[in-house]
Amino acid sequence: MTSTQRIALVTGGSRGIGAACAKRLAADGFSVYLTYVSRPEAAQAVCEAIAAGGGTARAFALDTADRDAVAAFFGSEIKDQGVLQVLVNNAGVTRDGLIMRMKDEDWDAVIGVNLSGAFACLREAAKIMLKQRSGRIVNITSVVGMTGNAGQANYASAKAGLIGLTKAAALELASRGVTVNAVAPGFIETDMTASLPEKVREELLGRIPLKRLGQAEDVAAAVSYLASDQAAYVTGQVLSVNGGMYM
Ligand code: NAP
Repeated sequence: MTSTQRIALVTGGSRGIGAACAKRLAADGFSVYLTYVSRPEAAQAVCEAIAAGGGTARAFALDTADRDAVAAFFGSEIKDQGVLQVLVNNAGVTRDGLIMRMKDEDWDAVIGVNLSGAFACLREAAKIMLKQRSGRIVNITSVVGMTGNAGQANYASAKAGLIGLTKAAALELASRGVTVNAVAPGFIETDMTASLPEKVREELLGRIPLKRLGQAEDVAAAVSYLASDQAAYVTGQVLSVNGGMYM
């Protein structure tokens, strides 16, 4: 990779929506840097698939909830490696439970990865992008960040927080040509939703006007647009990719 490469960094790029974003952004011509936390073989497989298609990708272990690790990663692996054109804040986890039974560690873990981790990456990326006077940040929020969802107070709070972060950062970074937007998927077929009981799945399908669960590629297409030159005049927005379902 050269020092003039245009980097797209995707957190949680080893599986699901992040992997689809990594592949799509590589096809769009970016050098993709993807991160994972626990599955190096999955991350490596995504890099190999991208290489097989003629693209370039590298995988890095990074727990985005660890702010010191995030700062060290940007300092050693991103800064001065080329133009950091795109950050996709995709890393996310769920630890569902009703509020009355939710443990502090389940609240902290979900806020830590989904919101604080995204903030830590956005802050580091912004330092670089402000100097460059260009960049695109895309935060992956969720339909439940706008509607709430019983049993997901931690996750809904983190995803709602991510929308606030998106809008505040869009205002702070706009004068230097850096855009910040969010994509809000509905129910997408990934590991995160694989454990939904059949009954819940059928009930959900009945509420999705387009009559199917989304695919990770549906979300990646929206990210690709927001990362592109065509979205240069779009910032502070939340683009829903949910088959028309607003819970
Ligand atoms: P997924 O299949 O469970 O994949 C999660 C990804 O995040 C994996 O790459 C995982 O890495 C990574 N990750 C988890 N904890 C991390 C941490 N502490 N630091 C860095 N990376 C971490 O999830 P998904 O369904 O693709 O979801 C991706 C994003 O979309 C999440 O933000 C999620 O909240 C959001 N979303 C998903 C849906 C849906 O229906 N699936 C709907 C709305 C929003 P490892 O592979 O190493 O574990």
